[in-house]
Formats: sequence, structure tokens, C-alpha cells
Amino acid sequence: MGQVTSTVGPTPVVEPADNSVVEPVETTSSTSPILPPAMIGVIGGGQLGRMMAISARQMGYRIGVLEPGPDGPLAQIADLEINAPYDDAVALRQLLDASDVTTYEFENISAETVADLAEHGNLPQGPRPVAITQHRLLEKDAINAAGYQTAPYADVTDPQLLDAAIAHIGYPAILKTMMGGYDGKGQWVLRSPADLEAVRSVVAETPCILEGFVNFDKEISVIVTRSITGELQTFGPIENIHKNGILHVSKVPAVVSPQLAAKAVAVARGLMEKLDFVGTLAIEMFVVGDDVVINELAPRPHNSGHLTIDGYNVSQFEQHIRAITGLPLIEPQRIAPSVMVNLLGQHVDYALKQFQKPEFGWGKLHLYGKAENKRDRKVGHLNFVTPDQQLLDCTVSAFLHDFPN
Ligand code: AMP
Repeated sequence: MGQVTSTVGPTPVVEPADNSVVEPVETTSSTSPILPPAMIGVIGGGQLGRMMAISARQMGYRIGVLEPGPDGPLAQIADLEINAPYDDAVALRQLLDASDVTTYEFENISAETVADLAEHGNLPQGPRPVAITQHRLLEKDAINAAGYQTAPYADVTDPQLLDAAIAHIGYPAILKTMMGGYDGKGQWVLRSPADLEAVRSVVAETPCILEGFVNFDKEISVIVTRSITGELQTFGPIENIHKNGILHVSKVPAVVSPQLAAKAVAVARGLMEKLDFVGTLAIEMFVVGDDVVINELAPRPHNSGHLTIDGYNVSQFEQHIRAITGLPLIEPQRIAPSVMVNLLGQHVDYALKQFQKPEFGWGKLHLYGKAENKRDRKVGHLNFVTPDQQLLDCTVSAFLHDFPN
């Protein structure tokens, strides 16, 4: 059973002294939007939940969170904090019962748990986005069944499937754990039979998938939001640059042809509709010549969309809140060319020093309130937004000149 605590914030603390469950606000009918000051519950209390909560609170919603540890990035601004493991059924029901609508900030929760919750309360996204996107094989099967392209892939659920998989895919290939990998973790590039031997111990321990290596020109993402009313809007394409498997820089406009940009958006819209998801779906794609190959899906706001906070008339976080509450979506308009620089733990000291200088101080700083600045962990980002593309490029390249590794 999770522990319920309250945090002090500018909106009323709703958690009652006796820890009993807070009654949800009545909505007039199932098709009416859920209006502020209703409570939005978020499973997971990291930076994505925090930025959803900032948007939601700005609109007057109250926020509840379930997160194992206390005082995380979202909990710092939440009205209701439940500290319990993500699979604690009693605590999850407590969050659901206290909330008028509940969402999640990540895909690595059990799909059975989400299915159970969706049966008992208002979790409009349901279990399918989680079930499909947390499992690389189901995800790739779903993308292909919808008629869109992925890298070639082979199931290595069982270690005995590895030799047949490499015979089918060929070198170079990428072995990825079937579930739970993020930021390039749980991935091994195989260039030779020696590399194959080195990963036998991995596949003996955990189910994997083998993917063909895509020689891409660049990486882009499109973020799609689909409301419970069926309304659909997109952000992007956004151009993404990774360093050591972790997103480093995102920018809009992506430097791609108008035809390619239109194709990426059409693929994203089509996929969201065919998958029939509600909420947010971030679609990472490889650009290969005139085509796009889908790499990965995330059923939530995405790191590459953080530039929408300052670079657009509506952020991916506000749009997500609108989608799950049934408010009208806003058609995204880019305010100006924008670049987001991700700040990992080792970048914070440098970034704060540079940020004090006038040439960089116009960047919009977002720090997530993490307890520690751990190496290679995302702790914040900076958004640079200006109509002057040359100033943008020069500023970002000067800012990154001595960026720590
Ligand atoms: P992922 O965790 O699947 O998004 O992979 C992290 C990064 O590894 C991607 O953003 C790519 O830069 C690279 N990567 C992943 N899969 C492939 C692939 N099949 N071919 C080439 N590069 C890949």
C-alpha cells in the first residue's frame, strides 16, 4: 500500500488529513470535457510528468502522482503524491479513484495493470499503447501491419533463434533487448561473427530482437496527439542528433525537403489512426533518401518535443492534457526556428555558467528538479528560439563549443 503525502503549492492541497480517497469532480456526461479544477493523475513522476503538470496547473487542473520515491520532479508541484512501486495495485487504484482522468508518463508499466485500471476508472488511453510500444517485436509487427516501414527485424526471444536471425538480417545488425531499453541502453551493434559470439550471454538471459542496421541520412521525429474526441494534430518533423545513444540536440525546422516533411507527417497521422491510439504518440524515424523508416514509438510526450514549450503556440504537454481531458486541440504553429539542447548531469555546471552570459542568456532554461545531477541522466534542457536562423545556428554552435562529454 502506498504512502500518500501532500505537497505545498500554489493550488489547494487536496489530500485529506485522514488519507482517505478524494472524490472526483463530477462530469456532466462521458463526452463533456473534464474541466479545471479537476484532478489529473499521472503514473510516473519524472520530467515528462512534471512538464505535463506545469501545463495542467497553468490551466487550473490539480495534479496527483504515483512515483516510488518522494519529492521527484513532478511531486514537487503536485497536489497529491502517492509513493509506491508502479505495480502496486492498491496505490494505483488510489490514484485512479482520486483523479478525474489518469495518464502515464512512460511505457514501462505492466499492460495488464493498465488494462485493469482502465476497467475501473478513467484512463482513456487504455492499455494498448503501452502493450505495443513496450515490446519491440509487437511494435514493429504493428507498424508493418499498418503498412509502414521499419528496419528488417527478427525475433530472438530464445537464444536458439540467434543464428537464424543473423542469417536472415546479415551484418551489420543491432541487437536490442525486447523490453526496457532506453537512451541506447540494451543495444549492441554486431559487425562480425566475433560480435555475435559476444552477445550469446545476453540473449541467454533476456529476450531480444535483431534489427538490420539502417544507413540513415538523418533522424527525425513527429509527435502526434489524438484526443478522446478523435481530433488529431502533429508537431514536426523535428530533426534529432544523438550522442552516445542519447538525444543531444533537436531542431525545427528539420532540414529536409518539403516533400519528405509532408511524407513524415502523413506517415505519423496514418499510423496513429490505424493504431487507434488516444493521447500522444512520438514517432522516431530514419530519413533514407526520399523515404522514412520508423525506428521507435513512445506513447507519451517525447524529449524531442521539448522545444515545443517555447517554440510553438502550444506545447506537446498542453496538447496531451487537452487530448485526455477532451478539450479542443490547438493547431500547432511554429513561432520561430528553435533548437533544444539536452542537459545531462555532467552539463549542468557548464550550462549555468554559460547561461549567465548575454549571448546565451536568451535561451529558455528548463531544469527538472532532480535530486542529483547524475552523469548521462537527463536533468534539463535549453530552448533557443529566434526568427534569425543565422543567430540561432551561431549561438548553438558557440554554446556547444566547450560542452562537456
Ligand atoms: P533506439 O533506442 O531504438 O531509439 O536507438 C537509439 C539510437 O540508436 C537511434 O536514435 C539511432 O541513432 C540508433 N539506432 C537504433 N536502431 C538503429 C538501426 N536499426 N539502424 C541504425 N541505427 C540505429
